[in-house]
Amino acid sequence: MDWDARENDLDLENRIVEPEYSPEDAEVENPLRPRALAEYIGQEKAKQNLTVFIEAARQRREPLDHVLLYGPPGLGKTTLAGIIANELGVNLRITSGPAIEKPGDLAALLTNLNPGDVLFIDEVHRLSRAVEEILYPAMEDFAIDIVTGKGQMAASYHLPLPKFTLVGATTRAGQLSAPLRDRFGVILRLELYSAEELSRIVTRSANILGIAIEPDGALEIAARSRGTPRVANRMLRRVRDFAQVMSDGVITQGTARTALDRLEIDALGLDANDRRMLSAMIRFYGGGPVGLETLAAAIGEEAVTIEDVYEPYLMQIGFLSRTPRGRCATAAAYRHLGLTPPGAENPQQSLFSGGA
Ligand code: ADP
Repeated sequence: MDWDARENDLDLENRIVEPEYSPEDAEVENPLRPRALAEYIGQEKAKQNLTVFIEAARQRREPLDHVLLYGPPGLGKTTLAGIIANELGVNLRITSGPAIEKPGDLAALLTNLNPGDVLFIDEVHRLSRAVEEILYPAMEDFAIDIVTGKGQMAASYHLPLPKFTLVGATTRAGQLSAPLRDRFGVILRLELYSAEELSRIVTRSANILGIAIEPDGALEIAARSRGTPRVANRMLRRVRDFAQVMSDGVITQGTARTALDRLEIDALGLDANDRRMLSAMIRFYGGGPVGLETLAAAIGEEAVTIEDVYEPYLMQIGFLSRTPRGRCATAAAYRHLGLTPPGAENPQQSLFSGGA
């Protein structure tokens, strides 16, 4: 998808439940980022594995193996890269797939690293083929081959690099080329967070930002933030404004509810866009199966946005299923929208017919 198109998409920019990074997050995202593994809430499996690998690398005084983090946006991939660098006591350099345009850009980044440094490449699936070619020997042998000049004037240089750790992040491991994926020694999948974990994240963020919050208030925000810490932190800031006016600045369950209802985020964290997509599936396509591209055209949204942003959460709460023939809305989605699922007009009868 065209990145600029996404940046300029007004719908997405104004969407509170949008898990992609937006400029308004910048002021708080840094102070809210946990710096140590012990502070990083949830993702227990990934954390346990990382703890072992980091400790082993430290004991051997070797750089950590290259790490691939994958999962939907806003789950803490950048944060984890920072923590890895902190725990190893090395520098973190941050870049992204689309930012590295030419092989020379990558060569410049790599040759400026210090031994052991962590290089974080966000959206690593969007590296160009030519840049990837440079990355293979860099990851494998800590060296790059640079060709300068053309024809008879061409010369090739073999440039050794300091040993470094590449941390790649992607929302879609399936789009990574096989040779690149194979060069990551550690592959960790980040999962959507539970409401309990998110309420701990909200409480921690509120403490850092000096916002008074009651446990029920934190849980209410958590329940509506679609498994995503970035969304939870963003909601916390919006709800704070309501709390200031409604309840002396304290976020209670009541203020959180009122605020999020007013922002049209329902009890499960769905906003108008999610509901629009589900109702289009139901009204135009009888609940599915409907192909991704068809659905994208029907609601005027990019297919990638549907896949990365809408679907993970809708699948997690059992509102949507992916089948080989397309997407289907489940009975739970019908009910959530106040509609009767097909074949369930008379559930008593269908359950007991022929039984007596
Ligand atoms: P990603 O790189 O996956 O898009 P980020 O690492 O930028 O996500 O995380 C977004 C925000 O969510 C960060 O500001 C961070 O404060 C918060 N966050 C993410 N994961 C956690 C976590 N496990 N514990 C606490 N806060 C988290």
